[in-house]
Amino acid sequence: MDLGGLEVEADPRKIEALNCSCLVFESGRIQTLEHLLAVLYILGLDSVELELQGGEIPILDGSAAPLAESILQAGLRPVPQAGKAVRILKSHTIEEKGASLSFFPNPDFRVSYAIDFPHPLIGRQEISVSLTRKLFLEEIAPARTFGFLKDAPELRKLGLALGGSLDNAVVLDEEKVISGPLRFRDEFVRHKVLDLVGDLALFGHPMFGHFKAERAGHRLHHQVVLFLLDHPDFWTYEEDASPRFLQG
Ligand SMILES: [Zn+2]
Repeated sequence: MDLGGLEVEADPRKIEALNCSCLVFESGRIQTLEHLLAVLYILGLDSVELELQGGEIPILDGSAAPLAESILQAGLRPVPQAGKAVRILKSHTIEEKGASLSFFPNPDFRVSYAIDFPHPLIGRQEISVSLTRKLFLEEIAPARTFGFLKDAPELRKLGLALGGSLDNAVVLDEEKVISGPLRFRDEFVRHKVLDLVGDLALFGHPMFGHFKAERAGHRLHHQVVLFLLDHPDFWTYEEDASPRFLQG
């Protein structure tokens, strides 16, 4: 709105993936789309107009829970022409520097994630979930983004985390969390699931498929979206069916 009401489409080909997923256009950029997109995806909101002031979706408490709560409070109305679901038909893996992201055919929308940080409080964490609306709202959306105190100066130099504080992220020093109690023991890997769902949302369709990430991040998430867009032989439209998370 501060660019004179300029309208931009959430186009997966205009995404720049760094520490967050940014939509880049001629006269500006919108940072940190992923948490909001994850909520819209799981709630089945595929026709949405957002009015935004400033170049970043508000980070709030660093999780997607406040966004989900306010949208649910506003209420949802089904539309007759719901978007088409997509079924993954063939597997594929994208790898990069010890990280990987694979997808496989699956009877529902499933996400598995593993992270491995050389930090005493994180270490290796793994999760595998078949997404339902309830599971997402209770187990994934409240997981907050996290960062390391030692990276703060570098991030600020890049113009990121400018609003970052102990209130909107899990912040760790060399050995512990300095921003208060964790919401889940494995909050870190749960947040990675949130990020992946938000990035996959840019594909534009609810999906039947299993996405399995190992130490991945926004860059790999987006490479998979672009791969799917460029390889329609790996998937098919599914008429009259929707993954469980859309069934309330
Ligand atoms: Zn995130």
